[in-house]
Amino acid sequence: MRYGLESTENWQGEEWAVRAVGGGAAAKHYRCPGCDQEIPPGVPHLVAWPRFGAGVDDRRHWHKACWNARDRRSARLQRSRNAPRY
Ligand SMILES: [Zn+2]
Repeated sequence: MRYGLESTENWQGEEWAVRAVGGGAAAKHYRCPGCDQEIPPGVPHLVAWPRFGAGVDDRRHWHKACWNARDRRSARLQRSRNAPRY
C-alpha cells in the first residue's frame, strides 16, 4: 500500500482503489453514484476507481455509507431490468 489512506477493495470482479477524502480537501460538489445526491464541499467522503484501465475521469466520489452499501445498491440497479415485480 503506497498511501496510508488508500485501500484496495474487490467489487464486481475488479480491484478498486479507495481513498478517504477529508472535509478540508473537498472543494467542490460531487455527485454520489450510490444515492444520486450531491456531496457538498467540506463533507468527508470516499473516492473510488478501478485499479486497471481507469483514468482520472473514472474516479467517483461516494458518501461513506453509500460505498459501504454499494452491493445492495448496485444489486438493485442491476436487477431493475429483469426484476420480478413484487
Ligand atoms: Zn451517497
